[in-house]
Amino acid sequence: MQIIQDLSLEELEVLVNELGEAKFRARQIYDNINLGKSISAISNISKDLKEKLLARFADTPLEIITTQESKDGTKKFAYRLSDGNIIEGVLMSYKYGHTLCVSTQVGCRMGCKFCASTLGGLARNLTAGEILAQVLTVNTMLGGKLGKHRAITNVVLMGSGEPLDNFENVLKFLHLVSCEKGINISPRNISVSTCGIVPNIYKLADAGLQVILTISLHAPNDEIRKTIMPIANKYSIAEIMKAAKYYFEQTGRRVVFEYALIDGVNNTHECADELSALVKGFPTHVNLIPLNEVEERELKTVTRKKAEQFSEWLKKHGTSVTIRRTIADDIDGACGQLRNKIVNKNQT
Ligand code: SAH
Repeated sequence: MQIIQDLSLEELEVLVNELGEAKFRARQIYDNINLGKSISAISNISKDLKEKLLARFADTPLEIITTQESKDGTKKFAYRLSDGNIIEGVLMSYKYGHTLCVSTQVGCRMGCKFCASTLGGLARNLTAGEILAQVLTVNTMLGGKLGKHRAITNVVLMGSGEPLDNFENVLKFLHLVSCEKGINISPRNISVSTCGIVPNIYKLADAGLQVILTISLHAPNDEIRKTIMPIANKYSIAEIMKAAKYYFEQTGRRVVFEYALIDGVNNTHECADELSALVKGFPTHVNLIPLNEVEERELKTVTRKKAEQFSEWLKKHGTSVTIRRTIADDIDGACGQLRNKIVNKNQT
């Protein structure tokens, strides 16, 4: 069944016209939906119109079925979609606001060796409205409203799924979530994270949005990268760097590289030197993430000391770098872990 969150205000106007209703009804529906209401909970439209909407659209696009809270305050949610599929998200709260990590697909087909999201493969893409609904639902839960009264200030597309493997829906989501009449989160406060689907990096650069591009590099050369990321067989690091540079030239935004530190795989001094040489030449930043160990995977994380050492090696070359604090590792923090637990439990 379709969901109404997929529609922009303009598309809603076409719909209410088709249903024989006055144009202003579209805005009423749009406001309520963006405030996280289900169709049946909208109080300022007629019963008749509600029934017409419910004949076409699911009442709610998703609901939160599990919440885990970490010692550091980070919350992890599992959502059930209207077709029963499960996805997950993470809420990180800071002094300046709340960052929500959203999923873009049910599962993932990229096959990265260290990632739990990809264990069961890809079930399906999320629609733009399903990605938006994650933001609207949590915003409402936090007591947020629309525009400057929103609670969610930043969004990162770093949950399950590969955003650039679901390009059209992700692009529409970016337009919906930044709509001035809706929750209005600026693209400048949104990060799109990709394992490096090169042609779609160019498409994103040409889309005219100012989102932050985050590239999951995780290795300084193709040889190592191929051992942990199957996508490396399709696109080389040289092609990724060319696309990243183009992204910077088109948007003026510094490109962020994610680098998960995996002991004995990508954390040698030589790797650090190679990585520094790679990201030189245009404004970039490296985010080091000590691997979040996944039960089903053999790969091992690094100690804090080793992470700091790697960071120092990069800094010696003048590379801009931070070590991301390991978030929520007491609550299945890594991508896909919570969803897998729920899905596996339901299957046994
Ligand atoms: N498909 C997108 C979004 C994935 S999740 C991408 O590849 O960028 C966001 C980040 O978490 C990615 O950099 C991903 O490689 C990383 N990641 C996944 N599993 C991880 C784990 N177990 N430990 C540390 N980082 C992980």
